[in-house]
Amino acid sequence: MTAELICVGTELLLGSIVNTNGAYLAEKCAGLGLSCYFQTVVGDNEERLSMVLKTAMERSDVVILSGGLGPTEDDLTKETAARVCGRALVLHEPSREAIGRFFEERGLKPTDNNWKQAMLPEGAVALDNHNGTAPGVILELDHTRLILLPGPPDELRPMFEEHVAPYLARLTSQVICSQTVKICGVGESKAETMVKDMIDAQSNPTIATYAKTGEVHIRVTASGEDRKAAMKLVKPVVKELKSRFGNDIYSTEEETTLEKSVVDLLLANKLTVTCAESCTGGMLSARLINVPGISEVYKSGVVTYSNKSKRRFLGVKKSTLQKHGAVSRQTAEEMAKGACQMLKSDVAAAVTGIAGPEGGTEEKPVGLVYIACCVKGKVTVKECRFSGNRRKIREAAVSAALALMRGCILEYYSKVTFGK
Ligand code: ATP
Repeated sequence: MTAELICVGTELLLGSIVNTNGAYLAEKCAGLGLSCYFQTVVGDNEERLSMVLKTAMERSDVVILSGGLGPTEDDLTKETAARVCGRALVLHEPSREAIGRFFEERGLKPTDNNWKQAMLPEGAVALDNHNGTAPGVILELDHTRLILLPGPPDELRPMFEEHVAPYLARLTSQVICSQTVKICGVGESKAETMVKDMIDAQSNPTIATYAKTGEVHIRVTASGEDRKAAMKLVKPVVKELKSRFGNDIYSTEEETTLEKSVVDLLLANKLTVTCAESCTGGMLSARLINVPGISEVYKSGVVTYSNKSKRRFLGVKKSTLQKHGAVSRQTAEEMAKGACQMLKSDVAAAVTGIAGPEGGTEEKPVGLVYIACCVKGKVTVKECRFSGNRRKIREAAVSAALALMRGCILEYYSKVTFGK
């Protein structure tokens, strides 16, 4: 099997950016057993790109292109590829929805040309882009295959790991195996810094980080002749990650979610739990209750949105609310303690914050959230500052509350170890 790379971008030709995608893709192809005989850099020019593409398609089994999938006029890779292959561009509905979601989650409005990214060559397979708007494309033709990837490396690399590597492995009869290390309570940039040396030195297995709401997942992927050979390469890397992140890893199992890891801890320690929520309006309870088996430990929870209900149902002091406000460290602490006492629970988590878009002040801006966790009378409070729209802030608060619950229970019952 032969592969050929075409990196598109006038910036590359002018030397304004270094072609790191070329190096990355070449290394990956080699690791997957593909022979890479040609690499081309071409500017954002339809005629010259067509010329290069036609030549590549004639002589290589797989042609991988990077760049030029963006929304602007000079992004013409997909249009040119479709024309060269004689395929029309048609609307791909799931990609259109994904683009809509991408903007909504960031509180932004798409412009008309963003929708252009949802137009794919007829018969193409779309590759999800979790870090941007342009979907990738796999287009199978009679004698060759085209793979179109976005230019920004932080979009191209995860897309390659997730979709392209398994696809190429199937072509070359290699087996791809991966394991995901799931981390909570550590920010994305800190997590990346902690594994930067491993990422820089990677070849097979590869290491990719994915930021989720309130979590970071690190996926370790290896290729080998069979599953056993591939897993043999994955295991020592996962072991190294465990030693670096310790108890911040809540699971290495595909199906274990953060909320499940919290419920497992509650069950293991026979702890009852309750949630006292303000801005999250029951979302924390909902995530916990999503976990089968929760009925053993979850008895009740309250949404106390007004000051009055915080006092009435949780026993928050009037003086606390007057002096520090509903969104404060002190109120969160009293909410958690009150929930434990009034709802007769071993563990309680409390959330109070400003989800916006209105209601923020200079001192207490939108996104300020206090989360408290009480385990058998011992309370820990955390101040968080989230960004994004109302939904994003509320979701981030829920994840942070789950991470705090997990951390507090582990600390209280230090005999319990992670790694379910
Ligand atoms: P966008 O949606 O951001 O426009 P795109 O798929 O159209 O993405 P380009 O516009 O070609 O990609 O490139 C966007 C950015 O990605 C470039 O400014 C550069 O920072 C980076 N980039 C593109 N190609 C490469 C490459 N070959 N190597 C490294 N970085 C690249």
